[in-house]
Amino acid sequence: MRWVRAVATIALVLGACGPLDRGGTASSKPRVVASFYPVAHAARAIAGDRASVTNLTPPRVEPHELELTSGQVIAATEADLLLYVGRGFQPAVESLAAEMGDRAVDLLAGQELAAAPEPGEGPVDPHVWLDPRRMAAIGRVIADRLASIDPANAAAYQSNGAALRALLRDLDRAFSRGLDDCRSRKIVTSHEAFGYLARRYGLTQVGIAGLDPEAEPSPQRIAFVTEFTRRHNVTTIFFETLVSPRVAQTIAAEVGARTAVLDPLEGPPPGGDYFTGMRSNLAALRRALGCG
Ligand SMILES: [Zn+2]
Repeated sequence: MRWVRAVATIALVLGACGPLDRGGTASSKPRVVASFYPVAHAARAIAGDRASVTNLTPPRVEPHELELTSGQVIAATEADLLLYVGRGFQPAVESLAAEMGDRAVDLLAGQELAAAPEPGEGPVDPHVWLDPRRMAAIGRVIADRLASIDPANAAAYQSNGAALRALLRDLDRAFSRGLDDCRSRKIVTSHEAFGYLARRYGLTQVGIAGLDPEAEPSPQRIAFVTEFTRRHNVTTIFFETLVSPRVAQTIAAEVGARTAVLDPLEGPPPGGDYFTGMRSNLAALRRALGCG
């Protein structure tokens, strides 16, 4: 790894001496690696065509505890910037980040984080991207970092960053208004991805699985969720697109509730992007909670 990086550094130095490096060739663009979809989406919105952004998590792959190929690790180690969500969300990416030093940015740094809802699930809840205001703060960090590694394009990054924050402000307003007046404020989700969103808009979330969508819920957990659903007349059990809906369907059938998608946007939503996915989530929540 170290050897590969040394070669890459030499190539970069040689490249910088050559006449071909001036004039905005593709290879002179900053190379940004994002650890999963919401980060890649924000980075692409801010970079435009001035930096290349790649996503470490392939489409249709659930990003929690993502495993990296050696090819991905080598390519990422040579990038100018690694943007990721730390604190145990993707341990393999955190190992890579440790290799990259200050070229790696943990987007949870500077955020006030909530403790994991259940003991033993890691220190904090990583799902900050589902709160538009927290996502706006992340957008600011990404714009500042791009501006500092590529000062010639700083104004463009900052202006794209401001445009992204304006869209996120609109989204935040739509959620505030859309969830203002509802018959219920209790949601049952596939895994507990919506804690920050629930807190922001005054909802209560109960997840069938905890913070990790792949963890098999215990019979006790399923019994608790079923009882919660009955007691609070929850109309809809939410499931998500990258995880099996089997347990959600079983609980829904048992209590006579519907099922619907609430997308944690850990991958790109089918046929859309972060914003269309969030608007679909808002519509699904409004239907499930009987909002006026
Ligand atoms: Zn998650």
